[in-house]
Amino acid sequence: MSKTLKIAVIAGDGIGTEVMPWGIKCLEAAAKVYNLSLSFTSFDFASCAYYKQHGQMLPDDWKDQLSGFDALYFGAVGLPDVVPDHVSLWGSLLQFRREFDQYINLRPCRLMPGVRCPLAGRKPGDIDFWIVRENTEGEYSSIGGKMFPGTEREVVIQETVMTRTGVDRVLKYAFDLAQSRPKKHLTSATKSNGISITMPYWDERVAEMAKGYGEVKVDKFHIDILTAHFVQRPQHFDVVVGSNLFGDILSDLGPACTGTIGIAPSGNINPTGKFPSLFEPVHGSAPDIMGRGIANPVGMIWAGQMMLEHFGYKDAADAMLRAIESVLAKGDDVVITGDMGGKGDTKSFGEAIEREILGSK
Ligand code: ATP
Ligand code: MG
Repeated sequence: MSKTLKIAVIAGDGIGTEVMPWGIKCLEAAAKVYNLSLSFTSFDFASCAYYKQHGQMLPDDWKDQLSGFDALYFGAVGLPDVVPDHVSLWGSLLQFRREFDQYINLRPCRLMPGVRCPLAGRKPGDIDFWIVRENTEGEYSSIGGKMFPGTEREVVIQETVMTRTGVDRVLKYAFDLAQSRPKKHLTSATKSNGISITMPYWDERVAEMAKGYGEVKVDKFHIDILTAHFVQRPQHFDVVVGSNLFGDILSDLGPACTGTIGIAPSGNINPTGKFPSLFEPVHGSAPDIMGRGIANPVGMIWAGQMMLEHFGYKDAADAMLRAIESVLAKGDDVVITGDMGGKGDTKSFGEAIEREILGSK
């Protein structure tokens, strides 16, 4: 038995609360079969219900309450009819990202069986790579402003900020990830032919970091042609790293190319372990379908799988991924949910994956 992985459960709003129980059940199944020790502690904050009661999304001491956990397992936040999105999002998820210095955003881009791929002729196994996005600086700085507002001479400026620390730490994570994979291939997203100061700096740091990773094959593409390659030859990629803006774009495009944006997970990671990392489905709270028990639980379960993988529980993580793939491959009409063309519900889908995990060894 390894050390206990301490997980803070924050189900949030809408379908977040409906898919979360299945995420937990599947993790518990994996823990049982692979003899892991996982502890789950639930929190009711970071939800609009909490906001209605307390006038804020988080308690004042949220950081103290959550700091001791290894991971935050997060459902979804936001009910725009109850609390404006900028309040709910900025008051919760973005606080976690910033205060816990989750400087990596990690998303898989993996073609799953049973999922209709919008790219013609691709089979499961053809597309399997990771997108690593810088999550704290770069183009999303709030340095800048407007001059001569309201006049013909209006000028608007927003600065991109890259620091050596910020760039090197995301590159290190991406190189380590590439090094750990069979293909050992890292692709850097750049635009140093058009953005003449920050992007050449990014390239320079990539070249410098590469010196420490002799086994990793490195290439770089300008962001414009890179997006075309995602569509035309996705089999080329293994690990793709990008700045905050480029990573943002790629981490939606990648899963969209595999038809999985609705079931994809995402990690906001602090690799130092000094603060908890957060794992969540990509989808939101989906108020249009909430309360009906028909939400697809795969994104939530896959996010749990990513969490186990992140913490090095490889056998259990592999078993969870195989279980998801197996249920998707069967595509049983009465099991899978309506968004994937089935007649099943959250329970039938979640239960099928849980059963596969329990039978995996
Ligand atoms: P956000 O504000 O974070 O974008 P949202 O609630 O506006 O969240 P999403 O939940 O991301 O939007 O997704 C858009 C639509 O896709 C939903 O309104 C819903 O109809 C559908 N959808 C999203 N997630 C699921 C799911 N897990 N199962 C079934 N349908 C889903
Ligand atoms: Mg939306």
